[in-house]
Amino acid sequence: MSNESAFARARTVIPGGVNSPVRAYGSVGGTPRFLASARGPYVTDVEGREYVDLVGSWGPALLGHAHPAVVEAVQQAAARGLSFGAPTEAEVDLAAEIRTRVPAVERLRLVSTGTEATMTALRLARGVTGRDRVVKFAGCYHGHVDALLASAGSGVATLALPGTAGVSAAVASETIVLPYNDLAAVEAAFAQHGGTIAAVITEAAAANMGVVAPLPGFNAALARIAHEHGALLIQDEVLTGFRVGPGGWWGLEGAVEGWAPDLLTFGKVIGGGLPVAALGGRAEVMDALAPVGPVYQAGTLSGNPVATAAGLATLRAADAGVYGRVDAVAAELSAAVGAALAAAGVAHVVQHAGNLFSTVFGEQVAAAGGAHDYAQVLGTESWRYAPFFHSLLSAGVYAPPSAFEAWFVSAVHDDAAVSRIVEALPAAARAAAEAAPVG
Ligand code: PLP
Repeated sequence: MSNESAFARARTVIPGGVNSPVRAYGSVGGTPRFLASARGPYVTDVEGREYVDLVGSWGPALLGHAHPAVVEAVQQAAARGLSFGAPTEAEVDLAAEIRTRVPAVERLRLVSTGTEATMTALRLARGVTGRDRVVKFAGCYHGHVDALLASAGSGVATLALPGTAGVSAAVASETIVLPYNDLAAVEAAFAQHGGTIAAVITEAAAANMGVVAPLPGFNAALARIAHEHGALLIQDEVLTGFRVGPGGWWGLEGAVEGWAPDLLTFGKVIGGGLPVAALGGRAEVMDALAPVGPVYQAGTLSGNPVATAAGLATLRAADAGVYGRVDAVAAELSAAVGAALAAAGVAHVVQHAGNLFSTVFGEQVAAAGGAHDYAQVLGTESWRYAPFFHSLLSAGVYAPPSAFEAWFVSAVHDDAAVSRIVEALPAAARAAAEAAPVG
């Protein structure tokens, strides 16, 4: 089986041949690699070709693929039964582990996807405030929740769609979209609509328009402004949670500065590669969820025992050594990306948020010292990314197939894996230098 024939067959039965749009290579062109297996820092495609992986299943693979402790926990849990639809002790263990790491989480509800987590957080915020409007930031992606797809990043940015068909005008009209990192815009929105805004939702650090860190004080000010107006702050840590540090982004910022969002959402790492996500926060707010309170939420597979076992084993293994290694690999690789691009004469900025990073291209953004919002990101020379990506791919390096995604490294990206990437970078940087705008 070749990647080509696998893709052709897939397109006859699955829209676009993929079950999530960015996998189709729409913005970089070419044939998506159909993967057959993954181990440690490597993935292998159906043609038997091995790549160093920089996608990491879009975040969950913090420990690398098929980590022995996680696989064993999953096998043991599976042998005890796949799904019960009744409470289990492991769910409580996972919730308690998360609360220990993020004390701002007094109560936690497990769901199956990040989309479900943010959707429920919104409903909860509306339920407890009795208000309908929500503030989100352009370029932030919170899953494919109807109300949150306006100016979303991730696949929506990749496809250059303004939003999506299929969302009613009524729903869209309840979302106020503001520029990221723009506190004046937030103040103005609250001055105008304050009494009707249920919540501000933000990525803890934006990583779905490429990586755009919050400016110092931005998240704290969001909490303050929201609270001054009786609204909630929802900090979406689906991507950053337990990846950028043991307590997620909040652990690096809010915990140090002494403030907390009302609700946080998690996903990716807390499932260790299986479908687990969660929302958590202040007990008073969380207890508005059914069966205690009036806000309904449920799930046949919520807290699934096999998925929960994977998440718990992942978090238990994610110790200081793991975070130290992920940080070190990210620092080494991002420096190597920058050095290769500089040597090839490509104006760029490698943008960081903790151990997450991505690159923006162009003289203008380089002169500005980086992009701080979605409009600036969209103004960059993102057409340089496709040849850069394909050069890496042909050298056995599997970078994200979109300029607007973070690069994910794992704790098992060892020296051999890192060297393969570093050796591939000069040619990729030359390909980026030779790129021409598309269309
Ligand atoms: N929130 C953020 C910040 C994300 O990055 C994502 C997914 O990439 C989601 C929510 C949605 O999660 P899921 O794809 O599990 O629905």
